[in-house]
Amino acid sequence: MNLPLTPIRFKDRAAKLYGNKVGVICGKDRFTYRQFAQRCNRFGNALRSLGLKAGARVAFLSFNCHRLLEAYYGVLQAGGILLPLNVRLRPHELSGILCDAEAQFLFYDPEFGETVQSELSKAAQFPLPLTASSGETSYETLVAEADDKYELDLGIDENTVAELFYTSGTTGNNKGVMLTHRNLYLHAVHSMWSLRTFDTGINLHTIPLFHVNGWGAPHCITAAGGVHVMVRRFDPAEVLRLIEQERITHFCLVPTMAIALMLAQETARRDLRSVKEIHLGGAASNPTLIKNMEKVFTGAFVHAGYGLTETSPCITTSLLKDTLANVSEEERLSLLSMPGLEMLGTEIRIVDVDGKDVKPDGKQVGEVIVRSDVVMEGYWKRPQETSEAIREAWFYTGDMAVVNAENYIQIVDRKKDLIISGGENIPSLEIELALYRHPDVLECAVIPVPDEKWGEAPCALIVTRSGKPIDLEQLQLFCRENLAGYKVPRVFHFRESLPKSGTGKILKRELREPFWAGHERRVH
Ligand code: AMP
Repeated sequence: MNLPLTPIRFKDRAAKLYGNKVGVICGKDRFTYRQFAQRCNRFGNALRSLGLKAGARVAFLSFNCHRLLEAYYGVLQAGGILLPLNVRLRPHELSGILCDAEAQFLFYDPEFGETVQSELSKAAQFPLPLTASSGETSYETLVAEADDKYELDLGIDENTVAELFYTSGTTGNNKGVMLTHRNLYLHAVHSMWSLRTFDTGINLHTIPLFHVNGWGAPHCITAAGGVHVMVRRFDPAEVLRLIEQERITHFCLVPTMAIALMLAQETARRDLRSVKEIHLGGAASNPTLIKNMEKVFTGAFVHAGYGLTETSPCITTSLLKDTLANVSEEERLSLLSMPGLEMLGTEIRIVDVDGKDVKPDGKQVGEVIVRSDVVMEGYWKRPQETSEAIREAWFYTGDMAVVNAENYIQIVDRKKDLIISGGENIPSLEIELALYRHPDVLECAVIPVPDEKWGEAPCALIVTRSGKPIDLEQLQLFCRENLAGYKVPRVFHFRESLPKSGTGKILKRELREPFWAGHERRVH
C-alpha cells in the first residue's frame, strides 16, 4: 500500500494523538493541536473557495507567527505551493520574486501594508493582510468563516511541489528552489531521528520560517507532537525570556545568534536549565563556540549541522558516535563543531575535479555532492541551472570540504565567493553589480571580512574613475537605495588597482588574506 508522503499527515496525526495538548504558542495565543489543525483546515478550505488553482503559489510576507505555520499545511491541503518571503529583502527584490513565481495570493503582516500597497500589489493577484482592524477581508476573516473539516486526499502526488524558497545564489540571482511533498515528509522523518525530536520537546522557532523551511523544524515538531513556540524575530533578550518562561528544551541557531545570546546581559539572570539540545548551522561553527555554549546552557547537547535550501535543508549533523565516546575533550569539541555525519537517507561524497572521492584524511579538499530523498525537484523555471546542479543523480553543492577517517565532514570553503553574515547569504556579485551602477565606480570586488557582531560582513574594494575616494556617506546612501540593509558593505576601501589572475579575474583570495590575519576563519 502506498499512501502519499505528504507533511499534511503530520498535522492530522498530531490532531488525533495530541488533540488536547497545547501545540502552538505565539505571543498570547495558545492553540491545542486540535485547534491548530482546525485553523489549518479552515485556511485550506477558504483558499479553495477563493478559487485557488492547483499548483498556484501562495506567498507569505510575515515574521514568525502561528499563521505562517498554519500555511505550511493549509496551502498544501488546498493544492497550492507555499512561498514564504524573506522579510529583510528590498521591495524591488520581493516584487521580482513574486513576479518570477507568478504568485496568486500574497498574505502579509500589516507592518508591510504600505510596501504592499505602493510596490507589491501588482505583483500578486490577491494581496490580503493577515489581520485587519476594519471589516476588510484578511487571513483571520477567511479562517473565521470557512469550514474546519479536512480528509486526506489519497490522490495527492507526493512528487508535486509543496514549497518554493528563493535563495540568493552565488550568481546574485534569486532562484526558486522547489521542494516536493515527498522531500518534506522524508526530511522530517530523517531529521527527527538525527535531531532526536520527541513529543516532550518544547521547541523555540529562532530561525525565520521563511528561511529554508525554518530548517525543517515545523514539520519535525508537528510530526513528533512537540510544542512550537514562536519568536517573532530573533532578539536575544526575548529568546532568553521565552526559554525561561516556556521551559524551552530545543532550538537552532546560526553561530552569530549563539554569540549574541552569550553576550546578552540577561543570560546570567535567566534560568536556562530546561535547555536540552541546541543545533548550530547555516555557517561554520568552531570548538570554542561549542565550549562556551555548553558553559551557558549547562547540560545541553550543543552540536553543529549542515544543509542547503536545495536539500530541505539538513543533510548532516555532528553526533558523537558511540565508538568515539573516549576521545579527548579537544577532539570531542572539534567533532561537535563540524557539519559532521551524513544523516539517514542521505549519501554524501567529497569529490575532486575528476569526480574521484578525496582521501578521508581530513586534508584533501573536494566538492560536497549529495544523493538523497531530500534533494529538491529543481530550480523554478530554470531547467538549465537544474541540470547543472543535479548531474547523474548527484546534487553538486558548490561547498568545498574535507572528510576524516570516521566520515565526519568539515566545510572549508565555498566554491564561489558567497559571504555569510548573521546566517544570511550575501552574494558578492549582487553588491558588486549595485556598486557598478555608481557613476564613479570603475572596478570593484566585494569580499567577506571579520565582523564582531555578524561573524562576517561584506567589504567593498573600489577603484574609482576619478582616482579619488567617493564620499562615504553618499556611497552608503547609494547602496542602501539599491540593496537590502544587511547587504550594504560595512567597510569600503579605495585602491589604485585590484590584483588579477592571468585570465583577468580579480584575485579575491589575495584581497581577503590581510583582513583575516590573526582571525580564525573556518570557511576561507
Ligand atoms: P542556505 O541555502 O541559505 O541555507 O545556505 C546554504 C549554505 O550555507 C551552504 O551551501 C554552506 O555554504 C553554508 N553552510 C550551512 N551550514 C554550514 C556549516 N555548518 N558550515 C559551513 N557552512 C555552512
